Amino acid sequence: MTRTVLISGAGIAGPALAYWLERRGVAVTVVESAPAPRPGGQTVDLRGAGRTVVERMGLMPAVRAACMDQEGLAYVDATGRHLAEMRVADLGGDGIVSEYEILRGDLSRILLGATTAEYLWGVRVTALDDGPDGVAVTFSDGGTRTFDLVVGADGPHSGIRWLAFGPEEEFVRPVGGYTAWFTAPDPVGLDGWYEMYNEPGRVASIRPDSTPGRAKAGLSFLSEPLEYDRRDLAAQRAIVAERMRGTGWVAPQLLAAMETADDFYLDLVAQVRMDRWSTGRVALVGDAGYAPCPLTGMGTSLALVGAYVLAGELGRHASHEAAFAAYEERMRPYVTQGQVLPPGGIRGYAPHSRAAIRNRIWTMKLMVSRPLRGLARRLFFTRAEAIDLPDYDADRDDRAVTAGSRPA
Ligand SMILES: Cc1cc2nc3c(=O)[nH]c(=O)nc-3n(C[C@H](O)[C@H](O)[C@H](O)COP(=O)(O)OP(=O)(O)OC[C@H]3O[C@@H](n4cnc5c(N)ncnc54)[C@H](O)[C@@H]3O)c2cc1C
Repeated sequence: MTRTVLISGAGIAGPALAYWLERRGVAVTVVESAPAPRPGGQTVDLRGAGRTVVERMGLMPAVRAACMDQEGLAYVDATGRHLAEMRVADLGGDGIVSEYEILRGDLSRILLGATTAEYLWGVRVTALDDGPDGVAVTFSDGGTRTFDLVVGADGPHSGIRWLAFGPEEEFVRPVGGYTAWFTAPDPVGLDGWYEMYNEPGRVASIRPDSTPGRAKAGLSFLSEPLEYDRRDLAAQRAIVAERMRGTGWVAPQLLAAMETADDFYLDLVAQVRMDRWSTGRVALVGDAGYAPCPLTGMGTSLALVGAYVLAGELGRHASHEAAFAAYEERMRPYVTQGQVLPPGGIRGYAPHSRAAIRNRIWTMKLMVSRPLRGLARRLFFTRAEAIDLPDYDADRDDRAVTAGSRPA
C-alpha cells in the first residue's frame, strides 16, 4: 500500500490531492516552486463534478462565502456600452460566468487550509530516480528523500512531467494566443459585471475583485508561440504592451496598471495532451497532465475531480499500477470532453475581424434568447457533469465494517 507521496505544486490540484490522500492515511509532502502560496489569477469556475468534490470535502460553506457575486458577461463597445449580455441566471448558473465563481487565490487558500501536509515552499524537484521500492528525489535545495509515489500537480509547464515523461514540446499544444492576468484599479465601476472589449485579434477584459475599487484584468492577443524567458517579467510586460498598443476602451489604463501589478502572469493559451498520465511510480494530475486551457472554463473542475479520483483509486487498489490504470480509465472520457474548445476555438474568444466580432455579439444574443437558452446550455455547458464519481469513502467504511470495526 502507498504510505508516502510527494506532490509537486500547491495550486489547486496539489492541495486537493493532499487532502484526499491524508484522509486515507497517507503521509504527504508538497513542494512548491513559489516562496509562498500564489495569490494570483482571476475568478475560476466551479462546475458540475468539481462542485460535488468540494461538497464531499466539506468545504462548500467556505467556498460559497468566498464566491464573488457576479451579474454575468457583457461585451462592450469602446465607450463601455453593453452590446450583449449573458446573465448568470440565463443558463441556469452554468453559462460563461457560472453560479460559483471564486478567485483562484481564494480557492487555493481554502484547499491549503484543509490539509496538514508538510509544505516545502520555494523548492522544486531537480531529479527523480524511479526504483522498484520507491522514487529517490533530489530537491533544488540539495536535499534527497525517497517516496512511495511522486505526483506532478505543477501546472501546464510541469517540472515532474519534464523529468519523467520528456520535454514540454511533446505534450503542450498551443491554441493560438496569449493571456496576461493581473490586478488593476477598477477603471469603470464594474458593479458585478465581467466586461469584455474586442478589437480584431485582441481582447481586454475586467472582472470584479474581492476588494472594492479593484478589478481583475485580462489582456489577450492572437499569436504564434513566442520565445521569451519565463522568469523575465519585464520582457513579458513589454510583449503585452507591444501587442496591445492602440487598443481602445480602458486598455490604456490597464496597460499602465500592468507595469506595477505584483501578480502579473502571462501564459500561452495551450492544452496539455498525453496518451498516459503515469509511468512507473510517477503520475500527473490537473493541468500538468490534461490542461484544457482557460477558454473551456474546465481547468479547475478537471483538477479537483482528477485529485479525487486519483486518491480514491489509490485507496481502492493495493498496487499503484492498478490504481493508476483505474484513474486513467475513469478520467479519460471526462478529460476528452473537458478539452473540447468552444465553437471557433480561440477565434471565438478573440475574433480576427470586425465582422467576426459582430457575429459573436449576435450569437450571444441568440444563445440567451428564451427559445434557445435550454439548447445552448445542453450543447455547451453541461460537460462538467459528465462523470460518475464513485463514493470512495463508502469503500473505506465497507472495509472497516468487514474488518469488524465501526466506520467513523
Ligand atoms: C498564478 C496563476 C494564475 C492563474 N489564473 C487563472 C485565471 O485567471 N483563470 C483560469 O482559468 N486559470 C488560471 N490559472 C490556471 C488554473 O489555476 C488551473 O487551470 C486550474 O485550476 C488547475 O490547477 P492546477 O493545480 O492543475 O494548476 P495551477 O493552478 O497552475 O497550479 C500549479 C502550481 O504548481 C507550481 N509549480 C509550477 N512549476 C513547479 C515546479 N517545477 N515545482 C514545484 N511547483 C511548481 C505553480 O507555482 C502553481 O502553484 C492560473 C494559474 C496560476 C498558477
